[in-house]
Amino acid sequence: MTLSKIAKLIKDGQPEQQVEVAGWVRTKRESKQAFAFLELNDGSSMTGLQVIVDDSVPGFAESIKAITTGASVRVSGILKESPGKGQSIELHAAELTVLGTADAQTYPLQKKRHSFEFLREIAHLRPRTNTFGAIARVRNALCAAIHNFFQSRGFLYIHTPVITTSDCEGAGTMFQVTTLDLAKLAQVKTEIDYGQDFFGKQASLTVSGQLEAETFASSVGDCYTFGPTFRAENSNTTRHLAEFWMVEPEMPFYELNDNMDLAESFIRTILADVLAACPEDMEFFNLRIEKTILETLRNIIDNDFIRLPYTEAVEILLASGQEFEYPVSWGIDLQSEHERFLTEQHFKQPVILYDYPRSIKPFYMRCNEDGKTVRAMDVLVPRVGEIIGGSQREERLDVLTDRMAECGLEPEDYWWYLDLRRYGSVPHSGFGLGLERTLLLLTGMANIRDVIPFPRTPKNAEF
Ligand code: ATP
Ligand code: MG
Ligand code: MG
Ligand code: MG
Repeated sequence: MTLSKIAKLIKDGQPEQQVEVAGWVRTKRESKQAFAFLELNDGSSMTGLQVIVDDSVPGFAESIKAITTGASVRVSGILKESPGKGQSIELHAAELTVLGTADAQTYPLQKKRHSFEFLREIAHLRPRTNTFGAIARVRNALCAAIHNFFQSRGFLYIHTPVITTSDCEGAGTMFQVTTLDLAKLAQVKTEIDYGQDFFGKQASLTVSGQLEAETFASSVGDCYTFGPTFRAENSNTTRHLAEFWMVEPEMPFYELNDNMDLAESFIRTILADVLAACPEDMEFFNLRIEKTILETLRNIIDNDFIRLPYTEAVEILLASGQEFEYPVSWGIDLQSEHERFLTEQHFKQPVILYDYPRSIKPFYMRCNEDGKTVRAMDVLVPRVGEIIGGSQREERLDVLTDRMAECGLEPEDYWWYLDLRRYGSVPHSGFGLGLERTLLLLTGMANIRDVIPFPRTPKNAEF
């Protein structure tokens, strides 16, 4: 039985029963009177279980000797009310099996608080800590909430390719695919022979599934893609990964306002769902990681987001008297310091900015009649900054081809994308939500490397 099931038994008031549990020992305390206390955790919930082992258990002395922090054990026995403080239930062992020992000299997770920097070096063991166990559970609940949101609204879950030839964001931040000839490599031995391409063509890892998702939105209706995304971000920020997960819904017949409505209700719903699904983990984050996190989240869930055009945001920033590191003027791509000023100091709320200068946005966004702006929208939240980027898409063939020329793109490379405008084109919109940015918001963690199981950043792809 998992410890989370046991927690439920306790909650339901029916604890006294025979159970078998298995997990990893967090601590061991030995008493002189031939018994020992083990604190066990199996990762299914934040709370561990106190196990009492005495010398009536077969092999007691050898087992207790073999057990140190990190060892794995299986225990069966009876759950009983605990006389001790702060511990409602304990397991009185009848049988104990040591499954795997852990060398106390080398096991890196000893009973003390480890820094997140240190834990990043042992990404394979950090899920055994309270913080990273909680992050794994919250990440899981968030993914379930995302699917639930779209499934309950009739969106189709589609899969877009990882290997692609289109540079959707036009930012030149793609990883190129090369072929590695292992057979040749084995013969040559000395020289690494990397191929140059993907079977004679250039191909890259996807930076966004949007263009492909548009093909489905133009045929089966509301849909979403949700998977890993790759960007050669050669910078070390606390908000960027080279591999991250993105959720991208795409909807026919949606204009920018409909898109903003969907994005807002999406964020509020998934946050509320995670709070309801993981109360214990969320309390932990509020207590140990960031003490205002629950208040911030409730505020986001309960109140309407602010919506304002980019131009007005620039006016607010200019009038703020604030000294920004990156100077503000109409036409700049807003930096995280500007986004945080708007959400944390000025509005104290999430903000959806829309109608951005066309010069800083990709080719596919719907051009406005003013000739200067496009129907882009970014959702900005406190502490994190941009969490969603989206837009209404350009559905007019002539405007789109002009825009592509303006952005230096070859229409032939996007013939299939242009076909969607040639045959039964419709107004449509979509957006991309960064999963890890959402987790930063939810958990209060400060560094994006700590909310993905295996962070991929410059010089870090080992495990
Ligand atoms: P930023 O301005 O922060 O670099 P972006 O505008 O380049 O983000 P988009 O292309 O709009 O990002 O991607 C949509 C969403 O994907 C972003 O709003 C963000 O939540 C997430 N995202 C983008 N790049 C990264 C990254 N390198 N690591 C993690 N999440 C990212
Ligand atoms: Mg970027
Ligand atoms: Mg951006
Ligand atoms: Mg963006």
